[in-house]
Amino acid sequence: MTEPLVRARGLTRIYRAGRSSTTALADADLDVAEGSAVGIIGESGSGKSTLVRLLLALDTPTSGTVRFDGREVDASAGARRLHWLRRQTGIVFQDPYASLDPRMSVGRIVGEPLWALGIDGDRRARVREVLEDVGLEADMAERYPHEFSGGQRQRIALARAIVHRPRLLVGDEPLSALDVTVRAQILALIAELRTRDRLTLLLVSHDIGVVQNLCDQVVVMKDGRIVEEGPTERVLLEPQVPYTRRLLASIPVIDPGVNDPGRA
Ligand code: ADP
Repeated sequence: MTEPLVRARGLTRIYRAGRSSTTALADADLDVAEGSAVGIIGESGSGKSTLVRLLLALDTPTSGTVRFDGREVDASAGARRLHWLRRQTGIVFQDPYASLDPRMSVGRIVGEPLWALGIDGDRRARVREVLEDVGLEADMAERYPHEFSGGQRQRIALARAIVHRPRLLVGDEPLSALDVTVRAQILALIAELRTRDRLTLLLVSHDIGVVQNLCDQVVVMKDGRIVEEGPTERVLLEPQVPYTRRLLASIPVIDPGVNDPGRA
């Protein structure tokens, strides 16, 4: 059997401050198959962001390993290995206001990974192309973030996350700061890009509707542990652990529109 694109084993992250310590993630095992879309759900503070940061080597585990396409990666890996990992991955965060540098033009923001990763070719043309891919206009490259709405900014953030053609796209609550209509549009856009670019998707979301719409696997987290995982329909319709049942009952499906059939 081929190895999954991402494989975590025994992943643990303990934050220490003086004499107290917080186990943000405890002994997590996770496989993300190439081409799949995996949703991570759980209450605030359950360790979702910590897991994602460790998988992307943005943080170093206290113990455990992460392999990406069979190669071991963590934040203490060599510069070459980290550079290689950055080329394979892109991330979109929750807040499209905080995540875009207001002093940089949209073109510079979106193109930054191309320069940072030393990707050759016509970078300006690639930036214009990817802006159109996310439903913006190529000429918007000359403008600045404050000229755009929240939804447009999240499109810009998405363009930056995929400009270098990663294999894995990670979203840490990428839709939460957006209003309902815009959320549905960005959701549809992510689904479209996923299919078109054959992206593997890892999505942290507290919105079950989003996960149901976009993800074929779900991971449920509680107190730093993965308490349940499996195919989306199975986990959402027949949760095995009481925590998942409570979680599902406590989270309203905010936007019924995202449950439309026709998911990719
Ligand atoms: P989630 O993404 O599910 O909201 P997080 O991964 O952000 O959860 O946090 C998991 C736990 O780790 C929480 O108890 C949080 O307070 C703690 N934590 C996260 N980051 C830090 C940090 N930099 N320093 C100390 N504790 C942290």
